[in-house]
Amino acid sequence: MSKFLSEKLRALTPYTPGEQPQDMKYIKLNTNESPFAPERNVVKAAARAAKRLNLYSDPECKKLVSRLAETYGVKNENIIVTNGSDEVLNFAFMAFCDSENGAAAPDISYGFYPVFAAVNGVPFTKIPLKDDFTIDIKDYLGLNKTIFIANPNAPTGFALTLDQIEQILESNKETVVVIDEAYVDFGASSAVKLIEKYDNLLVTMTFSKSRSLAGGRLGFGIASKEIIRDLNTIRYSTNPYNVNSMTLAAGLATLKNEKKVRKNCETIIKNREYTANALRNLGFYLTDSKANFIFAKSDKIGGEELYLKLKARGVLVRHFKLPRIKDFVRITIGTKKQMDILIKTVEEIL
Ligand SMILES: *Cc1c(COP(=O)(O)O)cnc(C)c1O
Repeated sequence: MSKFLSEKLRALTPYTPGEQPQDMKYIKLNTNESPFAPERNVVKAAARAAKRLNLYSDPECKKLVSRLAETYGVKNENIIVTNGSDEVLNFAFMAFCDSENGAAAPDISYGFYPVFAAVNGVPFTKIPLKDDFTIDIKDYLGLNKTIFIANPNAPTGFALTLDQIEQILESNKETVVVIDEAYVDFGASSAVKLIEKYDNLLVTMTFSKSRSLAGGRLGFGIASKEIIRDLNTIRYSTNPYNVNSMTLAAGLATLKNEKKVRKNCETIIKNREYTANALRNLGFYLTDSKANFIFAKSDKIGGEELYLKLKARGVLVRHFKLPRIKDFVRITIGTKKQMDILIKTVEEIL
């Protein structure tokens, strides 16, 4: 730390991203990326856009915003496009978390929420999940804090129903409720249809998981036009060209492939159930995941040991040191072939 660092940031612990090792080829099941490469039209669109990299990208992201609005059945004014959904989440922490109320999220959830809170000086309340890692809706009723809920949650994979989300929205009308739908395409119901009814709802989504574009860094938020306007105020006050022109083009091309995207999601869901069954047969306990990962533990081996032994054999999964989940590993669902290697390797280790 230099002597120049702001007093306010001296205690900041940054987010730890999953490993992206460059040294050898792993079966990479640690950061919930898609195993499917972007389609050819997507790569071509990005390459075409590269020819115009001397120009700034469109700060309004107009074409992409229109196409997203069509895709999700909302108006252009209901959408903001960001550099990954991490950026719109950060904007929400900047915009909607008055320090007296602060923000709240489950204790076991996306590790970036407490970091965004800390970097923005927002008090952050962790609300414990139940013993079985599900959310107790009662804990969120009338909370009067800005609420961040990943649905499905990560790394547990459990999803709330729309009815449960509505109860939370209904009882927190004076604060924003952010529903982070990074994994919604793998089996949960989207809350987007509720934005007309609830002006306190912000839904965030990403191209990183179901749409094979993690490296492109593309996310978006859907909400009332007032919330979107506030978020845009922050965007234009930090980085109006937040999404680069190659990514804008890639995103637009991706939205022409919705059928293929859905098919890929169905494959992932099928592979998830296949892998879950195989691990259950090996004695693992798994949560009921509606995401593109599973969350598993075994009585025969600790989470960290399994992670290390898999890594030594070329299979990368994610382990979290948090006390409540240290016995678990989170395994991204890949192709059938990748999952067969995972299952076989786990078998050998046991
Ligand atoms: C992956 C993820 C995100 C953000 O991903 P981006 O790549 O920044 O779009 C947000 N929330 C959760 C819960 C995630 O797992």
